[in-house]
Amino acid sequence: MTLILTDESAGRHQTPSGHPERPERYSAVLSAIAGAGLAAVTAPLATREQLELVHSPAYLEMIFETLEGHDFSDGRLIQLDGDTFAGPDSLEAALRGAGAACLAVDKVMSGQACSVFSAMRPPGHHAEPDRAMGFCLFSNAAIAAFHAAQKWSVKRVAVLDFDVHHGNGTQAAFWDQPDFFYASSHQMPLYPGTGGADERGLHNTILNLPLDEGTDGTEFLAGWRNILLPFIAEAKCDLIILSAGFDAHSRDPLGGLQIEAEDFAALTTDIVHLAKDTAAGGVVSLLEGGYDLHGLESALAAHLNSLAEMGE
Ligand SMILES: [Zn+2]
Repeated sequence: MTLILTDESAGRHQTPSGHPERPERYSAVLSAIAGAGLAAVTAPLATREQLELVHSPAYLEMIFETLEGHDFSDGRLIQLDGDTFAGPDSLEAALRGAGAACLAVDKVMSGQACSVFSAMRPPGHHAEPDRAMGFCLFSNAAIAAFHAAQKWSVKRVAVLDFDVHHGNGTQAAFWDQPDFFYASSHQMPLYPGTGGADERGLHNTILNLPLDEGTDGTEFLAGWRNILLPFIAEAKCDLIILSAGFDAHSRDPLGGLQIEAEDFAALTTDIVHLAKDTAAGGVVSLLEGGYDLHGLESALAAHLNSLAEMGE
């Protein structure tokens, strides 16, 4: 079965007016989930120990000291980075995002679900071990990978990232790790500026596929099928985690790629087939970007449909 992890705090995490990573995204995500008819479980709060798997104690102290118990009654949000903001419910939402990533690993590793999708916001893949960045507070995909290694003794873990932006945070967390693999397609040049093909990590466990503006689904899928997926298959990973961003969609205001819902469905099906051969036998998928509400809803619906077919 395919399981959804979510919590309404994801709809209460505020950003400034006009910010693309806005609460309405959560409504679009809920519409896609409702259409897929999948069961949902509450996303739990991450523990401090889970966050410390990736983040430095100094960063976590700063986040908790800044946000916990802060009086937001003047209506002003706290700015954590050039484009990363927090309001009264943001710490809870971010903690539940990281907690959902860990619970998703537990559900797949224990065989209770063959795929789990975390429908939480804010996203995570830009958050680095010691800083918030790019709308992200906690590096959810990397935390999930380290959690799998620690709790389930998983040896080799892969994060596959098809968000239009490069996941600099995941890459930073994996850089010196011999058994954690990261494969990403992303538009380049684009925020955050990292993700060149020459960035391979200390042990060549990282593979980046930069795409030109205007790249369409045919070329996108060819890149995954000919370059990124063979790299991950070769690595013989025990668990696959997805950084599922839908801002590569043709309608997205932040990205310039021409990917359509059926392309996300096709890539997800290929990933599901790859995951069936892993020790975990399933997929953990975490929501990242996607800023056109219609594009997000249709692409996520297609992604969930492909995940759900796995259990049939
Ligand atoms: Zn993105």
